[in-house]
Amino acid sequence: MSTCKSQPATNPAQDQEKVNARMAHIKHKICVLSGKGGVGKSTVSVNLAAALAEAGKKVGLLDVDIHGPSIPTMLGLRPQPFMGTADAIEPVVAGNLKVMSVGFVNEDLDAPFIWRGPMKMGVITQFLGDVEWGELDYLIIDCPPGTGDEPLSVCQLIKEPAGAVIVTTPQKVAAVDVRKSLTFCGKLNMPVLGIVENMSGFACPKCGEVVNIFHSGGGAELAADFGVPFLGALPIDPAIGMACDAGQPFVQSYAASETAQILREIIQPLLHINRG
Ligand code: ADP
Repeated sequence: MSTCKSQPATNPAQDQEKVNARMAHIKHKICVLSGKGGVGKSTVSVNLAAALAEAGKKVGLLDVDIHGPSIPTMLGLRPQPFMGTADAIEPVVAGNLKVMSVGFVNEDLDAPFIWRGPMKMGVITQFLGDVEWGELDYLIIDCPPGTGDEPLSVCQLIKEPAGAVIVTTPQKVAAVDVRKSLTFCGKLNMPVLGIVENMSGFACPKCGEVVNIFHSGGGAELAADFGVPFLGALPIDPAIGMACDAGQPFVQSYAASETAQILREIIQPLLHINRG
């Protein structure tokens, strides 16, 4: 079982001030949300971050998916002691990304995080307030799945987010939960930057043709229903799984593939966020 030395947040006003001070140096804070786990939220987070960095932006990637922090594995990073001072943790540099993950806390990769609610909130607050990102164009935040306390804390603590990118799969069971995520964003006044439909068809590794093995188009239908942008459909591509397991952002390691090109198109609206 993992133990964390952090204490739960004790002074919400002070914690909020710390978060505000850190976030003031970051132009666009983007929360990546999903209605449920396993839809590819972390995969999309890593590749959005990598594609934005490839486009010349200064990008940080923060993984606060407490129960499934996959970002270290997806970037080939091991759990490691935090560097910096008690309240200014240095992010880890992975290629052209700055990265921080709750997964770094857990030295035993097989051990689950068994933390009660207040401890989880404390850790999320600490990660948002203590990581010294410096000046960034984008911070991509891989949030816990669902619409419970944990994503709620993240969304509420970031006072001026650019908005949320919501990841779904084509099936109806995923879409039902994504509707909840969209309503959740509405209640929090969190702008929805768009929906990504992941695992939308299968990209044949031999000929590159995308075969629709499930009903597809669910993401676009949801976007139309809720009047939010549809950012694009990413197929199941065996190379994505291989890149994740090899600890490399897919968009870099398979840079010439059609799927990588789709990811570059998905980030286009994010490159032109109007801050109002
Ligand atoms: P989540 O963060 O929603 O729990 P992950 O991003 O961890 O989901 O993805 C779960 C698994 O599915 C990972 O092994 C990842 O490599 C794989 N995966 C995600 N999207 C795709 C895709 N489009 N094609 C192939 N494999 C994918």
